Amino acid sequence: MTLKQVLNRARGILVANNIEQARLECELLLRYALRLSRVQLYLDLDQELGSEAEADFWHLIKRRLNGEPTAYIIGHREFYGLDFYVEPSVLIPRPESELLVEKALELAQNGTVSSIAEIGTGCGAIAISLALNLPQAKIYATDISASALKVALLNCQKHGVEDRVCLLHGDMLNPLPEPVDLIIANLPYVKEIELPRISPAGFEPRLALNGGRDGLEKIRQLCQPVGDRLCPEGCLLLEIGQGQAGTVTTLLSYLFPSAKIEVVPDLSGIDRVVSLTFRATTAGEKFKIKEQAIR
Ligand code: GLN
Repeated sequence: MTLKQVLNRARGILVANNIEQARLECELLLRYALRLSRVQLYLDLDQELGSEAEADFWHLIKRRLNGEPTAYIIGHREFYGLDFYVEPSVLIPRPESELLVEKALELAQNGTVSSIAEIGTGCGAIAISLALNLPQAKIYATDISASALKVALLNCQKHGVEDRVCLLHGDMLNPLPEPVDLIIANLPYVKEIELPRISPAGFEPRLALNGGRDGLEKIRQLCQPVGDRLCPEGCLLLEIGQGQAGTVTTLLSYLFPSAKIEVVPDLSGIDRVVSLTFRATTAGEKFKIKEQAIR
């Protein structure tokens, strides 16, 4: 069979198994099996595939049908136009999280953002995208998972920003040495009960997805003390899940009544990012955070 024929057959199988973006995934897997660049794949489409290479490719398709994400099989994933190493200790970056990067860059354009902290950085995709687009900014990236930080370090080295992104091991805001202008986070926000639907084969780390009973446990944990860790007029950018905007904005306006709160939809129209900006006149408010547990 030619490469084109093999691709078409594999795509049909993936489609029949309800795998979205079947064509793209088959191409990525075939390129990985044959160690081909994208251009080379297109140039070779009418070439015959050797039997050993074909067996390798079908083996990868079998793994994919077993639920293993393509990004883990091939070991990398594109995010914000950049390529990142991924492995099962880190969540695979999602296209909708690019909105967090876009919003952060907008803020940086309209004001002074000289220091940024990403909480729960995983493979480092968000922190590194910001580091590359904001060459003057000082960037911290924290994660509770030491194995995730190892992947983040590899990605920092791959993109030449290991001196600019300070990786810190620890829970939430704890490892931050100083207040910053912007805190950005894609925390776990999936309801525990929905984990089997989001990650049916369980390949992705639960730690990075599990937001507890109502999905908002980690977001609540971050919001309560966040005022202490932001500079005056600082900003928080949070990724949220479908249907969470109301609860998160209510919580934030309760904690920080005079701050400006905005909700931004993603390309599918789902409310995806919540931003909280302290105003100069009300900056003192964030140091008087209410003590009681928010439920
Ligand atoms: N957006 C991811 C998903 O629904 C969840 C990521 C997260 O919990 N932060 O697959």
